[in-house]
Amino acid sequence: MCRTSNGLMSATPDNRLGELNRLDRRGFMVFCAQIAAILGLAPSFIPKIAEAIEGGARRPSVIWLHFAECTGDSEAFIRSTYPSIEDLVLNILSIDYHETIMTTSGHAAEAALAQAMKDNKGKYIVVCEGAIPTGTPPGPAGKPGDFLTIGGKTGIDLAREVCADAGAVVCVGTCSSFGGVQAQRPNPTGAKGVEDAIGVPTLKIPGCPHNVVNSVATIVNFLLLGSLPKTDRLGRPLFAYGKRIHDNCPRRAHFDAGQFVEKFGDKASQDKWCLYKVGCKGPQTYHNCAWVEYNDNTSWPIKGGHGCIGCSEPQFWDNMQPFYERLPNVTLPGVETTADRLGFGLVGAATAGVAAHAAYTFINRKKFDDTLKEEGE
Ligand code: SF4
Repeated sequence: MCRTSNGLMSATPDNRLGELNRLDRRGFMVFCAQIAAILGLAPSFIPKIAEAIEGGARRPSVIWLHFAECTGDSEAFIRSTYPSIEDLVLNILSIDYHETIMTTSGHAAEAALAQAMKDNKGKYIVVCEGAIPTGTPPGPAGKPGDFLTIGGKTGIDLAREVCADAGAVVCVGTCSSFGGVQAQRPNPTGAKGVEDAIGVPTLKIPGCPHNVVNSVATIVNFLLLGSLPKTDRLGRPLFAYGKRIHDNCPRRAHFDAGQFVEKFGDKASQDKWCLYKVGCKGPQTYHNCAWVEYNDNTSWPIKGGHGCIGCSEPQFWDNMQPFYERLPNVTLPGVETTADRLGFGLVGAATAGVAAHAAYTFINRKKFDDTLKEEGE
């Protein structure tokens, strides 16, 4: 292992496999199985995923740019378990510039950025974290974009310069994807998502923060197929944003049965009934939280008893408010009414759907778990 000119540690080609082998092999194969399941690939792809990560393919050069943000997405990224952050940084990717984790600063850091762009022109991946302020600060000297300057350049100029020669631009988190909380009304800095700010198409992995499993699956897709995954009309990968939270929610059976938490702390909330009436935005939010959860499949907001706030949707901070009031007119599937109008007489009809949905959720979850077990044992 050696220290590179940009201050990041780097594995030599010879010790790369050695480093990966430090991972528990079973854990590594379970991780590969999990990624295959998340990407919707057959179990036969699991060895190929392992090979793509361990194999001799050149590590893609990554330039990670910070704009207006809280660094929550870097925090999420460095807490990856499979692969570990050490493997991501040392063996799988070549993270050539990342202001938070590189040890160099100032002119040396700027030189490292310029070098990485030159050496990997047209091929490097830019990962963007944070919104880009495009407004003009008050005062005679203010110019557009001056609310954020890094190394003497505005965020807009830096993004334009670095993204111009990139092979792909990936936005992690809702701020770089859609503007996030920085772009909330009245948005005094004119903050925008990267695509809106500079007009370059981006792949977006929103969430506050994004789920590192989804960024890792995107990397694997790139290593395996040499391309970024298919996206929805907003530029979000379909494997992670193709379905609503509501579609796979473990509390969905209670929604279908008209069983709702009316107040936090009530008996219904202890019994884990549906959070729709206390503001859950799951019916309008596309994200795979219910499948992959956060922090190594430990938990996620709804499992913890709090409704979804829709953080992976554009302008969620404006559009999903008030967070603790119900969405209007959410129609029950197969029942011609809304949850608000669900009468006692319809509970029986809705209950018929409970078993179906519970079975559907169980079968899907079991398929996912079986894939993991199959590889892990
Ligand atoms: S409204 Fe929210 S808590 Fe209720 S089923 Fe849908 S996603 Fe789950």
